[in-house]
Amino acid sequence: SGIQVAIDGPASAGKSTVAKLVAAKYGYVYLDTGAMYRAITWAAMDAKVALDDEAAVMVVVEKTPIHFAPGTPDQLVFAGDQDVTRVIREETVTNNVSTVAALPAVRAALTAQMQTIAAAGGIVMDGRDIGTTVLPNAQVKIFLEASVAERAQRRFKENQAKGIDVSLATLEQEIAARDYKDSHRATSPLTQATDAELVDTTSLTIEEVVNKIADAIDK
Ligand code: C5P
Repeated sequence: SGIQVAIDGPASAGKSTVAKLVAAKYGYVYLDTGAMYRAITWAAMDAKVALDDEAAVMVVVEKTPIHFAPGTPDQLVFAGDQDVTRVIREETVTNNVSTVAALPAVRAALTAQMQTIAAAGGIVMDGRDIGTTVLPNAQVKIFLEASVAERAQRRFKENQAKGIDVSLATLEQEIAARDYKDSHRATSPLTQATDAELVDTTSLTIEEVVNKIADAIDK
């Protein structure tokens, strides 16, 4: 049991980091909805399907069950029987996922899967449209923001730790481009729900953000 916690916001605002910590603190399930769009994007690219061809991508969605399994440091993501945990974080998937996420039929299918997983409560979900569309009745809704410069800097540091070499300027451009596409699509664009609490994380530590969300849950 437990409540539904929706955490939305733009790319690299720290959603998954804090969502995982909040879920652990309350013994809730963490669902990374971006990983679901990434897994379908990977599967569509693997099948060499045109990513803006809604009918063709839907064939991929229907053939590709997505599931999660425990793993450290990150939970494992499977597309069908393939472990796509790492490959879905690569630049090619990252830079194409917004195209797939703009397809209304894909959103409807993945949203239904998310709602099934969340039905029992005790869940922290992060994404772009959780508070507005996926879980409009979530008891706690948070919208995480941070400046583009700060978000690019965080991504840069993460990349360095993994030995990935992409310039700060390129990261800034990629983040801004993805936010633009995610906020301008016709179906459930990235927007702050009217009843969501805005948390600007630019000058907050991870712990401070987690504590703010915990305060909202404990209220
Ligand atoms: O959260 P993450 O950056 O992994 O999400 C990857 C992409 O998936 C986003 O840029 C967006 O296009 C899409 N997405 C979405 N709706 C969600 C979660 C992610 O459209 N609820």
